[in-house]
Amino acid sequence: MSVPSVVQSVTGAKVERLPLARFTTLGVGGDSEVWTVQNHAQLAEAMSAPYRILGGGSNLVVSDAGVPERVIRLGGEFARTDLMPDPALSTPELLITGWVGGGVPLPGLLRKIQKLGYSNLEGTVGIPAQLGGAIWMNAGTRFGETFDGLHSLEIAAPDGKRTVTPDELHWGYRDSGIPRNHIVTRARLKLRPSTPEEVQTRMDAADIARKGQPKNRTPGCAFKNPGNGLPGAGQLIDQAGLKGRRVGNAMIAPEHANFIVNLGGASAHDVHALLDEIRAAVEVPLALEYELWP
Ligand SMILES: Cc1cc2nc3c(=O)[nH]c(=O)nc-3n(C[C@H](O)[C@H](O)[C@H](O)COP(=O)(O)OP(=O)(O)OC[C@H]3O[C@@H](n4cnc5c(N)ncnc54)[C@H](O)[C@@H]3O)c2cc1C
Repeated sequence: MSVPSVVQSVTGAKVERLPLARFTTLGVGGDSEVWTVQNHAQLAEAMSAPYRILGGGSNLVVSDAGVPERVIRLGGEFARTDLMPDPALSTPELLITGWVGGGVPLPGLLRKIQKLGYSNLEGTVGIPAQLGGAIWMNAGTRFGETFDGLHSLEIAAPDGKRTVTPDELHWGYRDSGIPRNHIVTRARLKLRPSTPEEVQTRMDAADIARKGQPKNRTPGCAFKNPGNGLPGAGQLIDQAGLKGRRVGNAMIAPEHANFIVNLGGASAHDVHALLDEIRAAVEVPLALEYELWP
């Protein structure tokens, strides 16, 4: 079988054909054309043909055939962190940081913020996203969400870039209101002065709630809880007797039935087969929590 060649970038973006399994927490996903961009010129070129933006790959099940579009990854200036409070914008009660790139991994960012003794984002501890991906879907837990610590953000679209504040977006629960494929390139954070110890204590509390989640590779929860007083998705899948059910090397986690894990070498095909089994066995309609690419 012939391998499709990759185009050459005129702005110096790195263009490679790579397995997306390498960039997803589930560890599945076939070869695709990956554009790693360092600056706005490279990003604009990458966005000049159909594309998808990849963050931490922690909410994705990517097809074994990969995707036909360009896959953009943020590097260079979009992966820098400036947490120095901006004196022109900050007050003693509220610190507005410099710019933090959309491609910065959230866990390391939270660690730095904790060491500085700054508060507001610790409710998002344990979410293996990049900052841009976490902002795009306002990722969070019952202890807090990404928009709690957001002052302003820069968004790139095919027609140019703009800076907005959260007030200008229709954001809400797990939703930023930012259109799909508009790329969060960087953000200024809005943090409160606290102490490293206090921030750590709140992070520990949020972390304890994750006890019982599986340690294997996974894209997080498979289905949204149906609400309306019904049991959670995990409980419904468990009641259907599917805990531990395995197809190929994908398994419904014995620890928590709303997680599908990769035991090593699983394919997207295996994961889809398990999702279909769950839909067939659970009588309540369940909405998928993660995204399927393509
Ligand atoms: C172990 C585990 C635990 C999790 N726990 C939680 C939790 O507690 N709460 C929660 O909300 N989620 C949780 N998730 C899900 C996931 O981490 C979030 O949905 C997260 O926001 C995905 O961000 P990402 O950077 O990994 O995005 P990806 O998975 O790479 O992409 C997801 C979507 O975001 C878009 N996107 C990515 N980067 C950008 C960007 N820079 N600009 C615009 N759009 C972008 C992508 O195009 C795609 O549409 C968990 C996942 C795992 C694996």
